[in-house]
Amino acid sequence: MKRAQLLSKIDRKRYGKRTKSYLLKFQGYSLSDLEKNGNLRMVFLVRGQTNDYLVTVVFLKIVGEVEALIHKGMSLKSAINLLVPRMFNGFDIQVHCTCPDFTYRSSYMASKNKYNAGEFEGRAPRVVVPSASCKHVAFVLTLLPRWSLRIKSDLEKFMSSR
Ligand SMILES: [Zn+2]
Repeated sequence: MKRAQLLSKIDRKRYGKRTKSYLLKFQGYSLSDLEKNGNLRMVFLVRGQTNDYLVTVVFLKIVGEVEALIHKGMSLKSAINLLVPRMFNGFDIQVHCTCPDFTYRSSYMASKNKYNAGEFEGRAPRVVVPSASCKHVAFVLTLLPRWSLRIKSDLEKFMSSR
């Protein structure tokens, strides 16, 4: 599932303008997922009016993509500069949120369509209508390109120190 594709599936009109009042903070990366699977796993804190939730976004196989370009003769820096902007639209991502809405309405659909960054959920919701994702994920995915510079420099640091 690509970022733009997922965003288009989330019914954002349902949430109105309330998401404007959210606070968003980048919490960090999972270095073990980067080392083990070559995935860039980022965790964000989303603070709404009543609760805090953690949103995870995983860019799949980013390390392999960078390495493939290096293999073709590109420098690490140029490969990252080329790939990071593409990550936001051309790469498969996985998402997860700790809110009840994602847990009960989205985790089954996300698992079935292989974009669940959390635990696999094989049971379809029986009481509620399933949805592609929650408003917190929509919020993070919309603002994600803002971290572009930071991701570039961090990814370069990680990959040059391996
Ligand atoms: Zn959520």
